[in-house]
Amino acid sequence: MTRPVFYEQDDDTAGQPTATMYWVPLSAPNELTEAQAKELDPTPGTATLCNECEEWINDANSAMCNIDHAPWCSLYPKVVLCKVCGKLADRAMAHRHDGGWVGHESCWEERLRATE
Ligand SMILES: [Zn+2]
Ligand SMILES: [Zn+2]
Repeated sequence: MTRPVFYEQDDDTAGQPTATMYWVPLSAPNELTEAQAKELDPTPGTATLCNECEEWINDANSAMCNIDHAPWCSLYPKVVLCKVCGKLADRAMAHRHDGGWVGHESCWEERLRATE
């Protein structure tokens, strides 16, 4: 699980979805410097608050976007991006792996073989 941390460019955007945003693990300390946050997430982007489930959605990373909605949200995707082959896969069949998804049985087996 990840949560967004915001670093505003100026006072007008403080705490707003348009501010620079890093995704950090839930276990990360609350008080992070921007440099520390950047280490945890080297690809900062912007976030959008979902009206429906009130989860922050990562606009910058479409693969990440797939897992940010709450599971009961209607926008929670039926398909996810498989990190092994890069193709879309049925979420019900997909395995969570390192903050992403492995979407196909064949890809999962390939992944298991690779870590043996
Ligand atoms: Zn949502
Ligand atoms: Zn795949």
